[in-house]
This record gives sequence, C-alpha cells and structure tokens, in this order.
Amino acid sequence: IPVETFDLVIFGGTGDLARRKILPGLFRRFLAGQMPHDSRIVGAARSDLDAAGYREMIKDAIAEFGGSEKKETGQIDAFLACLQYVPIDAKGDGGWDDMAKLVRKDVVQAFYFSVAPSLFGDLAERLHKYKIANKKSRIVVEKPFGRDLESAEALNATLADHFREDQIYRIDHYLGKETVQNLMAVRFGNILFEPLWNNHYIDHIQITVAETVSVAGRGAYYDRSGAMRDMVQNHLMQLLCLIAMEPPSQFGADSVRDEKLKVIRALQGVDPHHIVRGQYDAGKGTTSYRQDAENERSFTESFIAMKCHIANWRWAGVPFYLRTGKMMKARSSEITVVFKEIGHSIFSENDNAHRNILSIRLQPNEGMDLQVTIKEPGPGGMRLVDVPLDMTFAEALGDSDVEVTDAYERLIMDVIRGDQTLFMRGDEVEAAWAWTDPIIEGWEARNDVPKLYDPGSSGPEDALMLLHRDGRKWREIK
Ligand code: NAD
Repeated sequence: IPVETFDLVIFGGTGDLARRKILPGLFRRFLAGQMPHDSRIVGAARSDLDAAGYREMIKDAIAEFGGSEKKETGQIDAFLACLQYVPIDAKGDGGWDDMAKLVRKDVVQAFYFSVAPSLFGDLAERLHKYKIANKKSRIVVEKPFGRDLESAEALNATLADHFREDQIYRIDHYLGKETVQNLMAVRFGNILFEPLWNNHYIDHIQITVAETVSVAGRGAYYDRSGAMRDMVQNHLMQLLCLIAMEPPSQFGADSVRDEKLKVIRALQGVDPHHIVRGQYDAGKGTTSYRQDAENERSFTESFIAMKCHIANWRWAGVPFYLRTGKMMKARSSEITVVFKEIGHSIFSENDNAHRNILSIRLQPNEGMDLQVTIKEPGPGGMRLVDVPLDMTFAEALGDSDVEVTDAYERLIMDVIRGDQTLFMRGDEVEAAWAWTDPIIEGWEARNDVPKLYDPGSSGPEDALMLLHRDGRKWREIK
C-alpha cells in the first residue's frame, strides 16, 4: 500500500548510515511501489555536492548495499530523480534558505537526524528559524540517545523545545524487525501462549544478541560506551519489554509504550554477582579488544551477561538472563522462553525432564520454533523425545518480501504514515537509563575488570556459570 507523498530530509545524508541503510531501504520501498514518485528525498550534509553528485554517490551506495532481487531496470533512475542535495552546516547559516525552498509545506514532512546527537539542538533550532518545519513535521533520531539519564533528559529537553512528543521518532531498529513484531502477534493473536505466559508456567527467559564483529574501526567511540550502553539499555531492553509487558488494550503507539514503560519501571536493580563483563582477547590473526580500542588500560566491556528480575505479579521469581557481545562464535540473536517441567509424569522416570521451549530468532533466518515432546517413533516402547516445530518465516510464507524488508525501511515507512508504535517514547528511554545508570556506576566504583574471553567463543566462563549455578544452561549460540 503506497504511503502519502512525502519530503524526507536526511541530515547526514552522505554518512555511513544513510548510504548503507536509509537510502538502499528507501529504494527497495520505491521498487515495491510504496513510495510515490513525486516524493522528495533531500540529502543534507557538510560535503560540497550538487544534486547530480549526490545521485552518483547514492547510485554507488545502492549498487554496494542495495540488494534487491526484483527487476530494477530503469527504476534506479526514476528513484534517483527523487533525490536532491543541499550542502549545510548544522551549526552555521549557509544552505538553510535553499532547504526552505526545496521542502514543500503541503506534503508529509520528515527530517531524519542521521548525525551526532550533539547536533540535534542546532538542527531543531534552525528548522524553525528558517520556517522549514511546521506543527505536523516529524523528526527521526538515531541511537545513541544519551549515555546516561542526565544526557538523555537533556536531549529530550532540547528536542521538546521545538517538537512535540508525537512528532519525535526515536529509532531502535530492533523494533523494526519482522520477528519482533511477530512476537506481539504470537503473544496476543493466539489463545495458546498468553495463558501460560507467567511465573506459573515459565521457568526463565534468555535473550542473546551475539555478534561476530569486533569494535575495530570504531574502537574509540565504543570504548566510551561498552555493551551495556550500546546494546542492553536499548535493544535488549526493548526485546525484554515486548516479552514481558502486559497485553496492551490495543495495538497503538501509546497503549504499547505505556505497557513497555511499566516493565522498565518494574525492573529491579541487579546484584553485582549476577553480572559478568567480558573483553575479547587476541586470537589467531585477530587483535584484542584493548588493541582495537587503542586503550591498553580499558575496563570497558565488549560482552555482558546478567540476570535480571521484574518485580510484578506476572514475573515474580522468573529470571531473565541477558547476554550480548562482540567477536562471539556466531552472529545470532534469539529470545528463548523456557517453560517449566510438567508437574507429574505418567511415563518412566527418565522421561519427565522434558520441557517446552519457544525460541524466537531475530537473526539469522528470522523465525520461531517451539520444542514439543512427542513419542519417539518406532517400536521401542513409550519413549519420549523433544522435537522442534519449526517455522522460518521466509519458508513458511514463501514471500520474498519477508527477506528484503529490513528494519530501517519498515520504520521509515512508519514515520511517513505517522505510526509511532515501534519507536521509543522519551519517558521509556529515560526509565531505561534510570535502571542502567546505577549498574554502571556500581562497577565503575568497584573498578571492575572485565574477564577475558577467546574470540569466537560464547564469552567468559563465568557467564556460563551464571546459569549453571541456577541449574540452567544457555542455549547454544549457532
Ligand atoms: P558518519 O560519520 O558516517 O556521517 C556523519 C554525517 O553527518 C555526514 O553526512 C556528515 O557530512 C554529516 N555532518 C557532520 N557534521 C555536520 C554538520 N556540522 N552539519 C551538517 N552535517 C554534518 O556517521 P553515521 O555512521 O552515518 O552515523 C550517523 C548517526 O547515526 C550517528 O548519530 C550514529 O551514532 C547513528 N548510528 C549509526 C549507525 C551506523 O550503522 N552507521 C547505526 C546506528 C546509529
């Protein structure tokens, strides 16, 4: 379904994110017939380019990162014709009058702030000073949204000086993933799961986001952040919210976000003994975290595992184990819901240790599988075996669109439609920092030294022990 005609200004339109994700994503939506051809995409950045130069740059970017299987003949030129460029300095006054002439008042207006957060205030101010933005304009902002509660509050206040909350779209691209939205469909579209979705039937929940990349190339930035700020405070927290929230009364922006906020506020502080921080060591032909960060004395974590609790009736006593890291054995993101064992087995004693496990894969191969217990086929008597009921979306639905719609393009279309459901609200982000800050302050005060782990592993040994001590084990990363 096509969206309305729009003018989208991408501040930082020549940057890595714009070239790798935003513009190839928009091109795919164009190919899918969702983007009206009279829409305008205006790149705005410091580079001294004209529209022709920008179109060349984006043509190359699409060739490199575009990846669409669909027939594109002739379409790329039609897409590039929608592109304009204005050289601009967020902190200066050059270029803004040209921008004002280019951006139309009678179509949907969106401004994507794909620049460092330190420029958000300057951009917001000039969009008003030059009478470009109006009461209906939308702005899109990227992570990181602050590095602690104080800076997040300051950023929110800066944006609030110029835009209302319902104009601000804070992107967490995890929320744009097909499976993440499916999590809500599975929970609230089936009778099967919700009655069991509580501490009576669920033993524990695991959330793993494992990456194989190192921090090389952005080590200096990463070293000031670490896995807790870079991944847990935003992405893992969002996944946790969707798993743990109460059913919203409707699938609407504020209903969903109200429920997510309640989860974050119900999160308990984390016992330092329930946190394992790690740093990857050097491997065969690979450098160590400290080398990549160019900081031989760095105490920043490239891995973290932790056990958290949500203090409410639904989740009392159910641990949530979170884990994320760089340079791990596989690129894999998965949420695992491990149900309790049955109360009484009518089968032989060996056979009561079976469990239902629902796992939700975000990558690779977005999909879900549910482990169920059945009789082992054959004449061997009544022996039980656990088998997966597997559903890989691309296979099950046979729809190539499942594969090609990535999170960014989906979310950008939501911005144009004016749907904030999959974007973080200001109070959510602040609540997440309010939970994160004391945890980080705790290890900083203790001068906690991260444990070394081998590149290509599942993280430090202590992370395995975190679950072993509780008689549980992590799902294998594969
Ligand atoms: P980048 O350094 O590649 O690009 C920065 C862009 O900002 C360039 O187009 C540059 O011209 C423009 N810019 C810089 N200073 C400017 C100024 N004073 N006035 C106008 N334009 C200016 O950065 P990036 O990787 O594209 O990241 C952009 C934002 O997105 C950052 O906030 C980053 O944290 C966030 N982000 C990036 C990624 C990613 O994969 N690259 C992922 C998540 C979030």
